[in-house]
Amino acid sequence: MIVVLKQNAQQESVKELLEWIEEQNIKINVIRGDQKTVLALVGDTARVDTDQIYSRGCVESISRIQEPYKEANRKFHPDDTIIKVGTEQIGGGTLKVVAGPCSVESEEQVTEIAKLVKASGATFLRGGAFKPRTSPYAFQGLHATGLTYLKKAREVTGLPIVSEIMSIDHLDLFSDVDVIQVGARNMQNFELLKELGHCDKPILLKRGLANTIEEFLMSAEYVMAGGNRNVILCERGVRTFETMTRNTLDLSAVPLLKHLTHLPVMVDPSHATGIPYLVEPLSLAAVACGADAIMIEVHNDPKHALCDGAQALTPDQFDHTMKAIRRQAAFQNLVL
Ligand code: PEP
Ligand code: MN
Repeated sequence: MIVVLKQNAQQESVKELLEWIEEQNIKINVIRGDQKTVLALVGDTARVDTDQIYSRGCVESISRIQEPYKEANRKFHPDDTIIKVGTEQIGGGTLKVVAGPCSVESEEQVTEIAKLVKASGATFLRGGAFKPRTSPYAFQGLHATGLTYLKKAREVTGLPIVSEIMSIDHLDLFSDVDVIQVGARNMQNFELLKELGHCDKPILLKRGLANTIEEFLMSAEYVMAGGNRNVILCERGVRTFETMTRNTLDLSAVPLLKHLTHLPVMVDPSHATGIPYLVEPLSLAAVACGADAIMIEVHNDPKHALCDGAQALTPDQFDHTMKAIRRQAAFQNLVL
């Protein structure tokens, strides 16, 4: 970290700053130029609060040389993280497809969809039991009952299950869920992230609607700093000025994240676009960009779906998309 001091900095204030920095176990190299004095800080600067440095009043600017995330940083962990989920894995040269309805609506609905997506080659079943809806009057999910139905569908198909948690208070209900999803709206729910850092479940962390890549990685860091290193990152589109698609899929995030972090990266073209016919081309593009997994919403009766029916693929459309994904995976020598 580089700290540039103001030209007219008071000696007393600089002395206090130097003492405060040294108290954090950071080494300081002082570089005195003709015009400016620069402090080069060496050590675990990820923990240094830059606001506290600014508040001394003698500081003109601060730049971080090193990223503020350590556990998620590829520089410190060069090998790809492979996340084990039962007999399945995410990351490490494989391609996985998570498919299922936006929401679990009934035991029959989720089991039927589970069988169909499995037959087409999906490797994980998704289904929301706690739904973060914009309107408080919209269907909120079946809660604990929804998770029970999802587990029944797992029993029938053998597909590991992925479901979204919205509150720390529900953690016990998720003890038998294979992958816990943190939705876009909760990406910066730091208390939730900290709590998930203390469990050993794989966490599927979705990028916030308007969050930068660095903020996304810092949220992963929250989970990892608590000891849980099983984090999967999911790019699901961000808000832009465009209104024709639900969000704008940031595909550059995929190779960028693969460069910056060792964590596996998933892409969700369903929430990114909100349009079924865009799901297949963007799934292929995501695989070409290096995604480790794809998440696709599938419904056996989209017209009557209780949530996100407009973006859901029918089982037939999903089957078509899976065939295309399979060809793309084979082209890239990925094990699907
Ligand atoms: C979902 O996966 O159903 C969901 C609500 O996604 P997101 O958090 O990305 O909007
Ligand atoms: Mn949805």
